[in-house]
Amino acid sequence: MIAGAGQAGFQTAASLRQDGFAGRIVMVGDEPGLPYQRPPLSKAYLMGKTTAEALTFRPEKFFVDNRIEIVAQTRVTAIDRTNKRVALSSGETLDYDHLVLALGAHNRALPIRGAALEGVFGLRTLADADAIGAMLADAHEVVVAGAGFIGLEFGAVASALGKSVHVLELADRTMARAISPAMSQLFAAAHASWGVNIDFGQGLAALAGERGRVCAVETTDGRKRPADVVVVGIGVLPNAAIAAEAGLDIDNGIKVDAELLTSDPTISAIGDCASFPSPYTGSHIRLESVQNAADQGRAVAARLMGRAAPYGAVPWFWSDQRDLKLQIAGLSIGADTTIVVGNRDERRLSVLCFRGDKLLAVESVNRGADHVAARKMFARGTPPLTPAEASRPDFDLKAWEAATR
Ligand code: NAP
Repeated sequence: MIAGAGQAGFQTAASLRQDGFAGRIVMVGDEPGLPYQRPPLSKAYLMGKTTAEALTFRPEKFFVDNRIEIVAQTRVTAIDRTNKRVALSSGETLDYDHLVLALGAHNRALPIRGAALEGVFGLRTLADADAIGAMLADAHEVVVAGAGFIGLEFGAVASALGKSVHVLELADRTMARAISPAMSQLFAAAHASWGVNIDFGQGLAALAGERGRVCAVETTDGRKRPADVVVVGIGVLPNAAIAAEAGLDIDNGIKVDAELLTSDPTISAIGDCASFPSPYTGSHIRLESVQNAADQGRAVAARLMGRAAPYGAVPWFWSDQRDLKLQIAGLSIGADTTIVVGNRDERRLSVLCFRGDKLLAVESVNRGADHVAARKMFARGTPPLTPAEASRPDFDLKAWEAATR
């Protein structure tokens, strides 16, 4: 039984059937409809370039043909480990032989006056995107809290739709948790060129409304701005409460071992909710990415089918913001040296992030070949590339990868 019908839950079910699992698969998810992809919500979907139907991972027939039962609009509310049974928000219970927790994460809340006004949104679900889209049509002034992935992807879309966009970010640079200062700078400059204003060191202090609908924001430095729509993208927290209540080990998410098993050998945890030992950092980490959710789903399915292996897939991420395609391979946490290759003026460059002589990550903008080369390199282990070598004027990552294969 799979708790959660997002990317990780869907992939587990699909991979189990692909790997020949013949038993019953039940997937419980709290949203209506078929499981769908979230990444386009803050990009193509809000731009009106794709439909809700096109977001579903597979049509209904796939789930029928593969005997994957979906219990929609339902939450798992408790885990009874002794009887290997979960309780559902519908009042029903479901027994399991093995339980996969693919519970995802929830938006960090902004506990300020006015946060519940109409026109104030998080952007995580299809319903969120639909609600934002409906209000955006007549909006002029858009305020975004957070210059992370959601804030900047949404800011890029809203500015392309002709809205006046103000982003407030508490940190001093864009996507500070995920990318190097050099790449942050490129994205800040690009947003400025699109007319998106980003105020660093600023958060939302309060929201003001008229007849229940947001009309203005107050920033933490006391300034006021008009706002027709406010989108809050200030990070997420892992959905680990039911695991904690069931007595499973928790450590910034549901703690799992190298094979993605929780402290109960009949329960796995994967995706945004799981904290796993990463060979890339040597510590337990939680990754909020499609790649991680999908690869961990595949890994759990393989283990359940008798092919256990330590999880060590190469982490990678992407973000599309107007004409900028950001692709990241590896994890830059702890980097102390960055080398930029490519052309900053044309916004086609890669930032190679090192700690000492060890390459940790490659961040590329509009240089897909570098990204592909980086993923291949990391898949083979730590690439023997040094900052000195990468600094050579004629250095080419793709050629270097091919030559060192
Ligand atoms: P995020 O990428 O973690 O960014 C949140 C940003 O908001 C951080 O820079 C954070 O700073 C800042 N912040 C925190 N509190 C704030 C406040 N009170 N006022 C202003 N800024 C504040 O998270 P997200 O953008 O909300 O995205 C949500 C989830 O969706 C994440 O898991 C993200 O990875 C995922 N997502 C991924 C993609 C992609 O991979 N392309 C796209 C969309 C969403 P601190 O770091 O200092 O807290």
